Amino acid sequence: KPDLAAKVVLKLKLAKPTPVVHALDNVSLSIRPGEVVGLVGESGCGKSTLGRAIAGITSPSQGHILWKGMDRSAMSKGEQHQFGLASQMIFQNPMAALNPRMTVEQLIWEAPRTHGLARSTERDAYVDRYLMLAGFDPAMKKRYPHQFSGGQRQRVNIARALAVQPKFLVCDESVAALDVSIQAQVINLFMELRDKLDLTYLFVSHDLGVVEHISDRVAIMYLGRIVEEAPVEEVFRRPNHPYTKALLAEVPRIEPGKRQFKPVDGELPSPINPPKGCHFHPRCPFAMDRCHMEVPVKKEIAPGHLSACHLNDE
Ligand code: SF4
Ligand code: MG
Repeated sequence: KPDLAAKVVLKLKLAKPTPVVHALDNVSLSIRPGEVVGLVGESGCGKSTLGRAIAGITSPSQGHILWKGMDRSAMSKGEQHQFGLASQMIFQNPMAALNPRMTVEQLIWEAPRTHGLARSTERDAYVDRYLMLAGFDPAMKKRYPHQFSGGQRQRVNIARALAVQPKFLVCDESVAALDVSIQAQVINLFMELRDKLDLTYLFVSHDLGVVEHISDRVAIMYLGRIVEEAPVEEVFRRPNHPYTKALLAEVPRIEPGKRQFKPVDGELPSPINPPKGCHFHPRCPFAMDRCHMEVPVKKEIAPGHLSACHLNDE
């Protein structure tokens, strides 16, 4: 269904004013229709910035975001509006995204009403439909966000995003603030919605367990660059990049069945003055002379598996 398909291709540099921070540096990422791409990295590595740029919330200072092959900056007002509705973002903290003075019903109806997606006579059915899709009981729609738990509020938030009939969801740490049991429910909800509504996802998370569970493909970010990209089972079974390997190092299991990952040794350097060459070299146990000067380029090391590390040339 190419007309329904979400396709985002971008190559961009995103700069913020004084001091100049290249939050993203020559990032190139394609997301195919129906795919779930997990975007992983330590906090501060640029994941959220990339997610926001792809969702159209921020614009890159250089580079392009393509949607179904169209460059977003060259779109007409109408096309930009369509793109804005088709791509929605779901944040970590649902309370911050929900106006506390509005009831659940008002929150869900606000955008469809503004954008003329349904007539006012259809309001009840429309609101109920999207609340039910998000697993929220419509009988409670006259209440306010603060009257609900974090998990229920996130469902309201999801219903609100769905109510504008998006094709592409950027989930930025969308389950990070929830209890583990609720996390699993919300992740299952995302998966159900993908099938029911033909959705495509960019799933931004620092939680590798969540990303492994939900993603088809995974991109690993380090200081504004994507250092490795591959189908999910490749990344987890045959990680190539030393940073990915460090991220995937586990601590011995204490509780059976529960994986816990070790934090990567050393600190994430400041993006204001990132290390030259391979950004990872100060923390990399395999760093060689050339790593200090030369930026490694992404190369395909197996079908669909890209990695940016000089070791692949040795
Ligand atoms: Fe380590 Fe060099 Fe590879 Fe960077 S390019 S990850 S420093 S070996
Ligand atoms: Mg973030």
